[in-house]
This record gives sequence, C-alpha cells and structure tokens, in this order.
Amino acid sequence: MHLSVVVPCYNEEESIPLLVDRLVQAIEPWAKRAEIILVDDGSSDETWAAMEAAHRRHPVVRGIRLSANRGHQVALTAGLEAATGARIFMLDADLQDPPEILPDMMMMMDRGYDVVYGRRAERQGETLFKKATAYLFYRFLNTLSDVDIPKDTGDFRLVSRRSLDAVLKMPERARFIRGMFAWAGFHQIGLEYVREARVAGETKYPFKAMLRFATDALTGFSTKPLKMATRLAFFSLLVTVLMAIYVFGSLILFNTVAGWASVLLAISFFSAIQLLTLGILGEYVGRLYMESKQRPLYFLSQETGHPAAHAIDFTSESRPITTTPKAPVQKEAS
Ligand code: UDP
Ligand code: MG
Repeated sequence: MHLSVVVPCYNEEESIPLLVDRLVQAIEPWAKRAEIILVDDGSSDETWAAMEAAHRRHPVVRGIRLSANRGHQVALTAGLEAATGARIFMLDADLQDPPEILPDMMMMMDRGYDVVYGRRAERQGETLFKKATAYLFYRFLNTLSDVDIPKDTGDFRLVSRRSLDAVLKMPERARFIRGMFAWAGFHQIGLEYVREARVAGETKYPFKAMLRFATDALTGFSTKPLKMATRLAFFSLLVTVLMAIYVFGSLILFNTVAGWASVLLAISFFSAIQLLTLGILGEYVGRLYMESKQRPLYFLSQETGHPAAHAIDFTSESRPITTTPKAPVQKEAS
C-alpha cells in the first residue's frame, strides 16, 4: 500500500459523505494503491452507518469502530495502527483541513521530508476565543517544553512510515500526537494553508476538552511546572522576610498589638501557594497512576473493508461488496 488516509470521526454523520467525496478525488493519482481509514470513535449518531455506506460506494474506504468514545487522539492512534501505507495522511472529518493540499505534501515528501505538517495561516469560522487561546497555548507550550513543537499546527499532516513507526512505539496514554511527531525527529517541514469552517455539525472540543488536551500536552512534554514549586518556595521565603521586618518594625516603633489582617493575609497567601503546588503535583501523580495501569488504549468493535480487499479491483463499481458483520475484533494497543 502506498498511501493511507486516516480520519478520526466522532458524531460526524453529516460530514462523512462530503469528506469521502473530496478525499476520493484528492487521492485519485494514487488510488490504486491507497486506502482511506475512517475511525468511528464510539459515536452516538449514525456515523458508523455513514461509514458502511461510504465503503459500499468506494471500496477504497475502510471503517473501524471503537468500542467507546476514547477521544480524538486515541481514535487517531487506532487509525494509525491500522494503516498499512508507506505514507500516511491524516486529517479531521469536518473538512477544516483541505484534502486538496495532498499533492503538494506528496511533492515535499518526494524531496526527502518525513513529516509535512499543515500550518494554519488563517482560521475561518472559529470563535475569537478559540483562536486567541490556541495562539497563546502554542506559545506557552513552547516556552515550557524542551521539544520544539511547531506553532499553529494540528494533526493535519503527511508522514512517512518510519516516522509513524517511531510514534507508534510510544505507549503513553495521554497522547499529544503532533508533539510526539516533533519529538520523534526526522526531517520536518510546514506547509501553510487556510483552515476553513466546519462543513457540518459542531466542534467536538468544548472548553473542558480543550483544557484537558492542553494539560496533557503540557504535562506530557515538560516537567517545568513541577520545578515551579521550588521557585515559589523561594518567592514565599522572600515575602516572609519582608513581613517579618514589617511586623518587628511596627512592634518596636509603634508598640502595636499584632493585627489580624496581616495574619489572615499571610495565611491565605501561603495556603494558596501550597494548594497550587499540590495541584500541580496531583496532575503528574494522577497521570503516573493512569500510565501505570497499562490498560489498552482502545478496543475495536467492528470493521468494514479489508486492507487488501479492494487492491485487486476496487475500481470496478459492480464488484459485489461483502459487508457481513464480523466477529468483534479485540485489539490491544502496543
Ligand atoms: N474527534 C474524535 N473524538 C472525539 C472528539 C473529536 O474522533 O472525542 C474528531 C472529530 O470528529 C474531528 C476531529 O477529531 O474529526 C477534530 O475535532 P473537532 O473538529 O471537533 O475539533 P476542532 O476543529 O473544533 O478543534
Ligand atoms: Mg474541526
């Protein structure tokens, strides 16, 4: 297989027909040796039926269905593990990332790059809040992290087999795939594109999910927040010294009774610092705990289309398609 396309989908029943049409067009030059893998991330709508229909119309489409909703990054991982191509193209189901950029990415890869990632030159149809938080997040992440993670990128990218294999060797649960590719190294280059508005449905990343994603990225790629506790300790020591000077000074000069306001202030100040550092510690300990359980990342519950099935004559529309339900497949993450 030359090219694999991987698309994580969660409640994307409306986007899938449009997505598949545009993808099939975009992969035309490589169609004979290509596969499109749609991952149903435990959707509660008709996403799976849409995938089966897409497979009937275009045998180049394969569908895999996770047993429950595991989140964007795990769904993407499941698709990447199923991919058999020498080059792997990944994008979102909502067509915010234009598949038409693929030939340019392929050209870059011909020149020897292992990762060609899309860089968002502009984002259309997204709230000012989302754009502002995303802008700040990538900059903040880069000041904290030791890995140089390309700014304003998503998981929209074309990667080589060897860079994908490197990423798939990382067993971590809290997955920040764009960062993992950056960490893996190899030759990388960005290609600018305009991020369009969603074709249908609404974002699956509400504020809470964005926050969790950001914390995964920060804790996964930096331990600097932990070291912050030491700095805060020095800072509070300084404040304590200043307070002591003030307290003894006023005692000697004005012979005052110690005031409750300063006591209360000191207590709340130091409690806040302690709780903050405890919270940061908690984030890392919680993640250590989750990682230590070593549970599989996902289970497959259904599959449609087989890697080699269409390779023979998928171009003939008249080919009888068999989509007999298979026994549930269980797969452990490596
Ligand atoms: N997605 C997923 N599982 C989830 C949430 C999202 O597979 O739990 C998919 C979603 O279907 C889409 C991609 O991840 O293809 C990106 O999600 P979305 O477009 O909602 O994010 P946004 O572009 O708004 O940041
Ligand atoms: Mg989107």
